[in-house]
Amino acid sequence: EQTKLLENQNISLQKEISNLTGFNWDLYTELKDAIEARQMRLFYQPLVSLETNLITGFEALIRWQHPQKGMIYPVEFIDIIETTDLVYLIGRWVIETACKQLKEWQKDFPKYADLTMSVNVSTRQLAEFNLVEYIRDILMQYQVNPHCLKLEITECTVMGDRDRTLQILHQLRELNIQFCIDDFGTGYSSLRRLTDFPIDILKIDRSFIQNREWIIVKAIGTLAFALGKIIVVEGIETTTQLAMLKKLFSSSLHGCYGQGYLFSQPLDADSGSEFLASEQVFE
Ligand code: C2E
Ligand code: MG
Ligand code: MG
Ligand code: MG
Repeated sequence: EQTKLLENQNISLQKEISNLTGFNWDLYTELKDAIEARQMRLFYQPLVSLETNLITGFEALIRWQHPQKGMIYPVEFIDIIETTDLVYLIGRWVIETACKQLKEWQKDFPKYADLTMSVNVSTRQLAEFNLVEYIRDILMQYQVNPHCLKLEITECTVMGDRDRTLQILHQLRELNIQFCIDDFGTGYSSLRRLTDFPIDILKIDRSFIQNREWIIVKAIGTLAFALGKIIVVEGIETTTQLAMLKKLFSSSLHGCYGQGYLFSQPLDADSGSEFLASEQVFE
């Protein structure tokens, strides 16, 4: 009886707080339930080598399979996850699910034994106590080669608490995991961080491709290669864009990878298997 009373008081207090702060309390509780009800899904979008035209890996992207509203995309809920305690629960689930799937594909398709899996990691998740141990355990549990796991961080993460972030990245680096800066060119990162931080891959934001800002694309690629990094070009949708990229980087295609609807939309696990089985070559 008393617990019930307290709970009700708690809820009305929370409602008041959300009115005052603009925090979407309903969405928060709905998400919390959704996680417990196992409504979260991972979809996987292929990454393709612009040199060999073969698939080399996938990026794991979260979706919410809502029983009434259908599929909900991260733009609707990722902010609330990243700014609350949900980030730890979801973040760990994403890492485990993605690693498990990666191992399954590597086993089922010997031709793709070196397949990689990219996972988006938010700033707060990176600072989570025990994240390094957690990832190490998951890699062990599923027998995943750490080099096949790529963590995608944003420029915001790179520009946050430098020392703390560096420390964690170096600890993860010791496991032999790779790092990638996502949506590169749209945030606030300074070039200094590119040499300070152990980054392997720059993912060029899709807005540059969409707006045909080829000079920027070329410059980012040139910078990346000069620093010994590789690039992933996001948001390739047309054969014209692909042809342009191949022309721009004709002498360094071994360091160029692409991702986008031209190759494939993000796929559920079964469609991902079919995709691998089809052994497509993207000329
Ligand atoms: P992102 O990591 O930059 O992922 C790429 C986004 O671009 C995905 O949107 C993908 O579906 C979309 N995309 C791929 N190819 C194309 C294309 O050719 N054209 C266009 N217009 N879009 C394309 P999605 O899945 O809606 O994810 C949005 C963002 O949500 C992601 O951006 C990422 O920042 C975040 N996110 C997704 N999953 C997770 C997760 O598990 N954890 C965290 N922390 N963030 C996630
Ligand atoms: Mg990403
Ligand atoms: Mg991106
Ligand atoms: Mg993005």
